[in-house]
Amino acid sequence: MKNTHTCPKCGSKDIVRIPDNQGRYSSGNNIYTSNITLMGKIPVIRYVCCGCGYVENWVEGAGELQKIKKTFD
Ligand SMILES: [Zn+2]
Repeated sequence: MKNTHTCPKCGSKDIVRIPDNQGRYSSGNNIYTSNITLMGKIPVIRYVCCGCGYVENWVEGAGELQKIKKTFD
């Protein structure tokens, strides 16, 4: 969906990108690599299909993916 801009469920091309809200303290979908500060917060970008409501979640930064790997692998 992120790359094709086409919904895999219904085939709609009506895809909207929802960026992470940096100002929000508790957005449920973000991944935290640290409990101490917001330094460890990894933004998760959402892609929503406006045709059927299907949602995909993506971590977009290569650096952030490395952080996740280090923390959880
Ligand atoms: Zn769809």
